Amino acid sequence: MTHPHTPTADEIAALRARYRTERDRRVRPDGPRQYRAAEADFGYWAADPYTPEPAGREPVRDTVDVAVVGGGFGGILAGARLRQQGVARIRIVDKGGDFGGTWYWNRYPGIHCDIESHVYLPLLDETGYVPEWKYAPGEEIRRHAMRIADTYDLYTDALLSTAVTSLEWDETSETWLVRTDRGDAFRAVYVITATGTLSEPKLPGIPGIETFAGHTFHTSRWDYGYTAGTPEGGMTGLADKRVGIVGTGATGIQVIPMLARDAAHVLVFQRTPSSVDVRDNRRTTAEEVGAGRPGWARERRDNFLRIVSGEPAAEDLVADRWTASAELLEKLLPSFRREGDRDAFEAAYEIADAAKMNELRARVEESVTDPATAEKLKPWYRYACKRPGFSDLYYPAFNRDNVTLVDTADTHGIERVTGTGVVVGGREYALDCLIFATGFSVGVSGVLSGKLPVHGRGGRQLLHTWAEQGPRTLHGLTSNGFPNLIQLGSLQNASSVNFTHVLDEQAVHAAALVAAAEDKGALVEPSREAEDAWLATLADGAPDHAWFHAECTPGYYNAEGRGRPNGPSSYPHGAVAFHALLRRWRDERMAEILQARTVATGR
Ligand code: NDP
Repeated sequence: MTHPHTPTADEIAALRARYRTERDRRVRPDGPRQYRAAEADFGYWAADPYTPEPAGREPVRDTVDVAVVGGGFGGILAGARLRQQGVARIRIVDKGGDFGGTWYWNRYPGIHCDIESHVYLPLLDETGYVPEWKYAPGEEIRRHAMRIADTYDLYTDALLSTAVTSLEWDETSETWLVRTDRGDAFRAVYVITATGTLSEPKLPGIPGIETFAGHTFHTSRWDYGYTAGTPEGGMTGLADKRVGIVGTGATGIQVIPMLARDAAHVLVFQRTPSSVDVRDNRRTTAEEVGAGRPGWARERRDNFLRIVSGEPAAEDLVADRWTASAELLEKLLPSFRREGDRDAFEAAYEIADAAKMNELRARVEESVTDPATAEKLKPWYRYACKRPGFSDLYYPAFNRDNVTLVDTADTHGIERVTGTGVVVGGREYALDCLIFATGFSVGVSGVLSGKLPVHGRGGRQLLHTWAEQGPRTLHGLTSNGFPNLIQLGSLQNASSVNFTHVLDEQAVHAAALVAAAEDKGALVEPSREAEDAWLATLADGAPDHAWFHAECTPGYYNAEGRGRPNGPSSYPHGAVAFHALLRRWRDERMAEILQARTVATGR
């Protein structure tokens, strides 16, 4: 679908005003404090519905080469890349009952990855697996995570259904002491953390939420025991139920059409509409993606990253709505700004953004029969303000008699939950089941949450050190005072919409650091000077994102409308340049991070 009209200056001005009004309507004084974590009294919403409570086992007290905290794609990629470097004892520890991370927890009906499967699923060249759909269902992705774990023998030493509770550097043995919630206290020469960025489910702090007497759960802990069926549907348990769903983000968009198909009645409690672009999922053939040729998957993945990072590419292999909208998403990367001055760039950007959002609002009108419902579903903000959504099933679901859209923007969300339903605008909607598609706490998993204290040299705690001085790293991965600790994630490096690719580059780098340290009998630890130099690199040419996020509708991208600090939190030149920098650094400067050991490890 195209929208040929280029918005005029007057239309742009009107849009700006509309966006401001819609934003102001949604900003809440309590900002991020409006949410509550699914823990303590609310721990029910975070319990593991997929793996039975594990039987007791003997606590583990041995020594391994590398402990990896987290068994999602970050952790298993670290495991695979370490194995390729010849590391023998790798112990991945994860709270989930199996590997997969976010794909272990999220099994809601309709779940798919909205990044093309051939670029999202890692290690396709190495495992010989070729996805059959352009956008893979969640279960296929979870199985692939398990396939990688099998291929690289990561089950043998793994501790599943186990949470790491602390990491302590022991100066005497120069190893990490790893403690868990199941009484383990084992040692590891290296620790790699891969605890994810969106893994702790969050709930809205709606008054009365704990009083609901019907059935309730979070989408990341889908209760198939209650709904029956599978991620593909067939939820016969809902056939006579009135189901309420809170949240219309990337998850809600995928779940709602499935509920519409199976439940007696679905009430969608929307606060801010998502933008929902064309999905066009379809079966693909090995021939069309070039599978079989050595390196085909790497080539495709690199091509996707180049395009979404604004780097020149001879062709667009994936050719989907991500690649078509790339310049709107990574808007301020220098790689997208080859010509013209900054003002000219931003003016052109605003016109392109308005054209795209007009196209998406037109899509709502074309798809939804009832004009009042269509109006409520239109997104009024810039494209990159919220995570874009993709579905060909979402809008048509609102044409069904059994689906009701309840807009909650004027009341800043649901006002109250009662024993029998929810209240919006003073009206109570009776429900049998209330499902929260309300997302995840951002940046508070693992090391950054304070739930996993990390004590480095001299017993100094990582978060305390960072609270005083701000986060300090080299490449986002290693920190002075915390030897042999490598943190994968999205801090002080370069991220991308294809997060598994970013994690893989980090995993390759982490494994190379471990191999080099083993080779030299050294510790992996950057100097303070190396951290200072990296912070200066991050600040040099850092784009000014603050103004953009300050004008956006509230959400987790901008701390619920408070704007994002414009500090040097990521490498300003994008992921392609960052990965090239890491490669060069490995070739030329690896020795800088290797510090002499004082003891032999005795392994
Ligand atoms: P989000 O945080 O994106 O969405 C939460 C939703 O809950 C929003 O619609 C929010 O409204 C709504 N909400 C929160 N509180 C209230 C309230 N009190 N009353 C009414 N509504 C409320 O979570 P998701 O799980 O949808 O997505 C999280 C992330 O996970 C995505 O951004 C994406 O990165 C990833 N994801 C990726 C997928 C993929 O295919 N690759 C699929 C699914 C998720 P409001 O917008 O007003 O705050």
